[in-house]
Amino acid sequence: PHGRVFNFSAGPAILPVDVLERAQADLVNWQGSGMSIMEMSHRGKEFESVIQKAEADLRALLNIPANYKVLFLQGGASTQFSMIPLNLAKAGDTVDYVVTGAWSKKAMEEAKKYCNVNVAAKGDNKSVPDPATWKLSADSRYVHYCDNETIGGVEFKSTPDVGGRILISDMSSNFISKPVDVSKYGVIYAGAQKNVGPAGVTIVIIREDLVGHVRPEAPTMLDYKIHVENDSMYNTPPCWSIYICGLVFEKLLKAGGLEAQLELNEKKAAILYDAIASSNGFYNSPVDPAVRSLMNVPFTIPSQPDLEKAFIKEAEKAGMLQLKGHRSVGGMRASIYNAMPIEGVQQLATFMKEFAAKHA
Ligand code: PMP
Repeated sequence: PHGRVFNFSAGPAILPVDVLERAQADLVNWQGSGMSIMEMSHRGKEFESVIQKAEADLRALLNIPANYKVLFLQGGASTQFSMIPLNLAKAGDTVDYVVTGAWSKKAMEEAKKYCNVNVAAKGDNKSVPDPATWKLSADSRYVHYCDNETIGGVEFKSTPDVGGRILISDMSSNFISKPVDVSKYGVIYAGAQKNVGPAGVTIVIIREDLVGHVRPEAPTMLDYKIHVENDSMYNTPPCWSIYICGLVFEKLLKAGGLEAQLELNEKKAAILYDAIASSNGFYNSPVDPAVRSLMNVPFTIPSQPDLEKAFIKEAEKAGMLQLKGHRSVGGMRASIYNAMPIEGVQQLATFMKEFAAKHA
């Protein structure tokens, strides 16, 4: 319906079609209010009900403990790269970063502007260094890692044990793809435009005792406390993006929550990794099987890299779009977020088999 394709974009990415349809139905006149969500005051009762329900549904989905705050902020996950050190460390404090790919590296480099960064462990873009080998600082203010590296396709399969230190995770590309024990974290953050909703909103889950310690020179907008005190409405929030996220949370809850979603995501990813494994080496996944991402599946054609362009072009003709790998690594990448139907993954696996048979 709607002439839609299977869209494997890494972000902004596919959204559930029924969510789009609901938004479409409400677009011009939201719930009989006579206004679009895009047109109404964020301080009115209508939008207040939208943001409150979005937060309540997210709390239910992730089982967020009462001593955690949920914020809907702007500036992308990239702004969190600076908010975290500015709020949780003083200049001269030591903070630990684990670098497993491009995004955790960016976060680490930003933190260097504000405090003393210890790179506790470094991956090779294919694997995750065993947390038991991480060289964490005795006095670090926090440990930051990226739960799913969107470009490399490297994903943590469990929460690393950091010996009681404050753990911070960038979950931009696998947020609400699986159940997470929030109580093990100080801060979890995620840009919405991959697995949740439209670009423009970044979700932050922060333990309340970590709020209220910003450096005095930091911009007001980068102070977690101002956003907590104002229920994410210190200034005008990204109303439309929050509204769509709310529809996605509601849908996931109705469909059985994150256990059910994880089961489906495992099934979908297995179809693609099996297609790679059963190709007699025609396709290759560069990632250690133990940490292969359920969300972003990079792969190459190692013996004939010239064929990769043709692969992407022919897949496009067959209705499977945005399969080009990130410009920094090349090859292909299939992003198969929550909203990608299993039929899309099956179609891609079949296409991969046919393409290999033609060219092997
Ligand atoms: N972290 C990860 C894991 C990402 O994938 C991205 C976006 N590609 C970012 C951070 C940056 O997000 P934003 O564009 O929202 O700043």
